[in-house]
Amino acid sequence: MTFIKCGVIGHPVSHSKSPIIHNHWIEKYGLSGKYEAIDIVPEELRDKIKSLLDSGYAGFNVTIPHKETIMALCDDMDDTAKKIGAVNTLYLKNGKVIGTNTDAFGFIENVKRCVPGIDISHRPSVVLGAGGAARAILSGLIGAGANKIILLNRTRDKAETLAHLNSDIITVRDWEVRNGVLKDAGLVVNTTALGMKGKDPLAIDLSALPNDAVVSDIVYAPLMTDLLKAAEARGNKVVTGIGMLLHQARPAFEKWFGVLPDIDAILEAKVLS
Ligand code: NAP
Repeated sequence: MTFIKCGVIGHPVSHSKSPIIHNHWIEKYGLSGKYEAIDIVPEELRDKIKSLLDSGYAGFNVTIPHKETIMALCDDMDDTAKKIGAVNTLYLKNGKVIGTNTDAFGFIENVKRCVPGIDISHRPSVVLGAGGAARAILSGLIGAGANKIILLNRTRDKAETLAHLNSDIITVRDWEVRNGVLKDAGLVVNTTALGMKGKDPLAIDLSALPNDAVVSDIVYAPLMTDLLKAAEARGNKVVTGIGMLLHQARPAFEKWFGVLPDIDAILEAKVLS
């Protein structure tokens, strides 16, 4: 069996949960390989990637701050990465370095598994935040059939830029009106860093939100953010962020190892511990 080397590149990267996820699957499926966290400073990205690939690496996950700069180092990118404008996975195909992005898949797959049968086409989705993660989530929502997305970000200009992904579907509103836009929403997604351990909670009043709306938070530390607790307390279905992290890893693993892995309770517990 060929020994397959891969890993996550970022700076810093020691906090990454990806080695736990991929090494769990290598063991679970009886494969031969290892997955490491590899710290690369931006100015050394080109040379380090080349030398790692020359030494036999099959590919990488790419995290902050390299998700956009890595695009220039790919021989080609698939349509998903081009649409999102960021690469989170590199793999080799016929000797070429291909960039893809699995974050949109991870987000949508998680929502669909947590809320089977969810139809995001019939009511607006409200997306809070316009950072790196929001790009993939907007693309995922549009791909999954969203007809109307209301996007709000503290820095409105960043939301305006993201709205160019599809200006027929995405409408930008001011951050300050976030309570009011919940009235008809079918799905609310927090993609900001608010609610994360060590950060302020997301200040939002859910009173106007319909009871059958789904509330999703991509923050996963803590798993139940104040937003999700408030939503659950008033009867809304909630989707935690850990599933996005786990599902985005699956297609990357498949590219390198040829096996589409699944998520089990042991893996979830390992990642949350
Ligand atoms: P990012 O690019 O740095 O974007 C941060 C976002 O949070 C921006 O929209 C920013 O607004 C907003 N924000 C930060 N502080 C704020 C405040 N005090 N008030 C209002 N808005 C504020 O980060 P990212 O990569 O998109 O990640 C965002 C969060 O998602 C992080 O917590 C990250 O851990 C999590 N995440 C989870 C997954 C997963 O798999 N579950 C994947 C990716 C990211 P401005 O534009 O105004 O600064």
